[in-house]
Amino acid sequence: MENKNLFQIWNQLQTALADGHAEPSCQLWLKQVTPRALTENTLLLDAPNKLTRDWIGEHYQDLLETYLTQLCGAPIKLVLEINPGKKKGQDAPVEPDQSKIRKQESAQETSPGQETWQTHLSPKYEFENFVVGSSNNFAHAAAMAVANNPGKAFNPFFLYSDSGLGKTHLMNAIGNRIHKNHPEMKILYTSSENFTNEMIAAIGENKTKLFKDKYRNIDVLLIDDIQFLRGKDSTQEEFFHTFNTLKEADKQIIISSDRPPEELDKLEDRLITRFSQGLSAQIQHPDLETRSAILKNMAAKDQLAFPDNVIQMIASNIKTNIRELEGAYTKVRFHAEISRQPISLELAQEALKDLNMANEAAKLITPEAIQQKVAAKFKIKPEELKAKSRARTVAYPRQIAMYLTRELTELSLPKIGEWYGGRDHTTVLHACDKIASEKKKNPGLEQQLQELINELKK
Ligand code: ADP
Ligand code: MG
Repeated sequence: MENKNLFQIWNQLQTALADGHAEPSCQLWLKQVTPRALTENTLLLDAPNKLTRDWIGEHYQDLLETYLTQLCGAPIKLVLEINPGKKKGQDAPVEPDQSKIRKQESAQETSPGQETWQTHLSPKYEFENFVVGSSNNFAHAAAMAVANNPGKAFNPFFLYSDSGLGKTHLMNAIGNRIHKNHPEMKILYTSSENFTNEMIAAIGENKTKLFKDKYRNIDVLLIDDIQFLRGKDSTQEEFFHTFNTLKEADKQIIISSDRPPEELDKLEDRLITRFSQGLSAQIQHPDLETRSAILKNMAAKDQLAFPDNVIQMIASNIKTNIRELEGAYTKVRFHAEISRQPISLELAQEALKDLNMANEAAKLITPEAIQQKVAAKFKIKPEELKAKSRARTVAYPRQIAMYLTRELTELSLPKIGEWYGGRDHTTVLHACDKIASEKKKNPGLEQQLQELINELKK
């Protein structure tokens, strides 16, 4: 595909997202980035900062790839690179051409009588392309059991792990398998964030009955990232009733989370009790062997010559997150493609140079260390960073500390919030955005941040 299609696809993507009722926040995040290039299988985007790159990568990559794949008619990978120079400006994409816009189609074929039912499953996630190793074999076996016996084997099935280790993949694989075996079943994949948004919209539009009917008449409900229900009392209440209705009717419920049920604080006890009634399975961090196998698998699928030393180099540097492993693979592949060179160790090292630096820093720096350094610099106590006070003498250092934690560790926004007295992820995000934009305007702050980073890295 040529670059002349770049803006066309980009515009189509945005319209498809709007038509498909993607979360408004997804569309807002996309406004931050600029499309740079489109090849046969990759769309490269410029992100203005690490936060934008990571946020889109973590939350919307799958969704965007699914849409892009539909729009282009071939699997498209999304690659985000940090490129602060590329601000959206005059050369922003032009208004979409309405005549060229395709309506969002269901990712699945629908069976007779269900023309309008959309599962929201992603067809690219299957058991067949899930690599099994010691870190995930229990979760995989349990998922297969659930897929082959929905409603009967383990209900609910509760899957948990750190980010990027295959929860969404495995859930979709279950859904896709059930869909294949039982095309008549109503399967729905959603995130807890989406569930919340839909509920709020239903209340606003006086359509709560429709909402309840929709969720309580499903055969298989897959709900991803349940941790986002923490602290949202009315959504929890509604989910509790949905859960009970489905469970009583032996309908399969599959839940994922970034932590085990008992660690879901700010979630009602009665929900935690329900979650623990079925089977919980954890996906652990992949060992070197599994990481190499995943890379080899990707290269084989793409029919690409990826030398062993390159596989080794990537697998031994990227240890904790399969999404990052894939990102590294795609970057190397992309660099080879645009430079028209075969993949070699040198080329891979060049392609991954920022990634390696980011990892080294992340390995050494802990959130405690950041809190201590920042507190010392501002002459306050580290505990004050976690306290409720909003006095500027404390609030500002707290924002700086949150920003540095986001920059220097691999913690997710909700996890960072926990380090700062259980604050909400949106508060953390606001702090990071604020410091990032102030830093651009204020060289003094930029220098201060750099000094803190240097000291932390010592
Ligand atoms: P999570 O939902 O836990 O954050 P994902 O399911 O989104 O993680 O996985 C991140 C990426 O890694 C996805 O592209 C997924 O296909 C891939 N992945 C994760 N585990 C495996 C595995 N065992 N084999 C192949 N690919 C995997
Ligand atoms: Mg996920």
